[in-house]
Amino acid sequence: MANANVRVRFCPSPTGNPHVGLVRTALFNWAFARHHGGTLVFRIEDTDAARDSEESYEQLLDAMRWLGLDWDEGPEVGGPHAPYRQSQRMDLYKDVAAKLLEAGHAYYCYCTTEELDERREAARAAGKPSGYDGKCREVGAELKAQYEREDRKPIVRFRMPDEAITFTDLVRGELTFTPENVPDFGIVRANGAPLYTLVNPVDDALMEITHVLRGEDLLSSTPRQVALYRALAQIGVGNGSTPSFGHLPYVMGEGNKKLSKRDPQSSLNLYRERGFLREGLLNYLSLLGWSLSADQDIFTMDEMVAAFDVKDVNANPARFDLKKCEAINADHIRRMDPKAFADACTPWLRAPHANWAPEKFDQAAWDAIAPHAQTRVTVLSDITANVDFLFLDEPARDEASWTKAMKEGSDALLRTARAKLAEAEWNADAIKAAVVAAGEEHGLKLGKAQAPVRVAVTGRTVGLPLFESLEVLGRERTLTRIDAALAKLAG
Ligand code: GLU
Ligand code: ZN
Repeated sequence: MANANVRVRFCPSPTGNPHVGLVRTALFNWAFARHHGGTLVFRIEDTDAARDSEESYEQLLDAMRWLGLDWDEGPEVGGPHAPYRQSQRMDLYKDVAAKLLEAGHAYYCYCTTEELDERREAARAAGKPSGYDGKCREVGAELKAQYEREDRKPIVRFRMPDEAITFTDLVRGELTFTPENVPDFGIVRANGAPLYTLVNPVDDALMEITHVLRGEDLLSSTPRQVALYRALAQIGVGNGSTPSFGHLPYVMGEGNKKLSKRDPQSSLNLYRERGFLREGLLNYLSLLGWSLSADQDIFTMDEMVAAFDVKDVNANPARFDLKKCEAINADHIRRMDPKAFADACTPWLRAPHANWAPEKFDQAAWDAIAPHAQTRVTVLSDITANVDFLFLDEPARDEASWTKAMKEGSDALLRTARAKLAEAEWNADAIKAAVVAAGEEHGLKLGKAQAPVRVAVTGRTVGLPLFESLEVLGRERTLTRIDAALAKLAG
């Protein structure tokens, strides 16, 4: 059921490089918004000056654009709740903090780190809950004056209600958190800087977010945010309603450990550099917690958008499987329009990735071979090794291939093949007939007969269909390479 009132947000902190976990979160929010014809808000949570960087901010925008995950409000597009970078909204948060203090939903906490540590240790030793103990909830005027004389700089702490918080998670069902497990928490640092714990729900309230879809790692902050929402409603910040929450399952990496941002496998840039298609990567990432149907792994983003419902997200941890990710990508490559495939490979074929000089790239040769390459690559960067024989003066010789293909008698076979190829008409069928005939003269089946020819001409035992490759390479270069192989065999 479409619901144009849906407002979701993707709100990363600009630290480090974008990673696949973040992309999965962005994707699910985007698909949910698009499914409902609702709004995706892109907000930058850059309140931690020590960790955030402009470079990372640029990378986030670039990643979203590359992925094709468009947003309706946020950086560059603006919107009714601008600005969408939290670093530009500080006054607003300070104002809300002041209101919370005034209404008694928050209080100044003067405890020093040492005092907090000490009490936490003692609570632990006594087997009691070790969160903040509420000491500063009621600080009388006298004690306050003393703290101020001691020049203690207080933080602002939110007063959690003394009752359980219950909400219905869209993925996990009803969840209840008891007060012992959700102590009062800091919302403004001693230096006056508002914290994530405050600014995230404040912005969700002000931006009228209806659904919060985010990773399970944030589940423990949800009861605090629910309580904060209720307080915000009381002081008239936002429209008074609390969004629904859906926590997306953990993504597990190698050895059943949570996939971490630091895991090389998790860096989005890596997938871009290897030449994953956005549709292939997103298709795979969508399967981390969701599926279109039991018997259809491969689908387009349009199909995902049409079918996506957060209620179908599975609460169980998902396993990140690079092999499957690659297989799905290969499938998407095979489904491309041939012209689009040829164009998409061009950045890899025109230096600096390639091992030939850029001016050796030959567009006509590429156009002719591309249709034969499309079914053979998993990621676009695979293309260079498949077609380098066309653009190098001499084939890149793989020694293992040479040893494997060049057996006793290979020189005789190559000489016969050369003679027949010199006479053949130059098209794939005729080339094949020439190699078949050469093999027959030496009592070799086609597979055995073509191996030395392939290695002589392309340098490797595996590659694109041989006869089409030779047709594109041309007679002259083919014969020259066979001659060079014969010379090497003659040693
Ligand atoms: N900036 C937070 C993060 O990247 C967002 C958390 C949320 O979605 O609420 O972890
Ligand atoms: Zn305190």
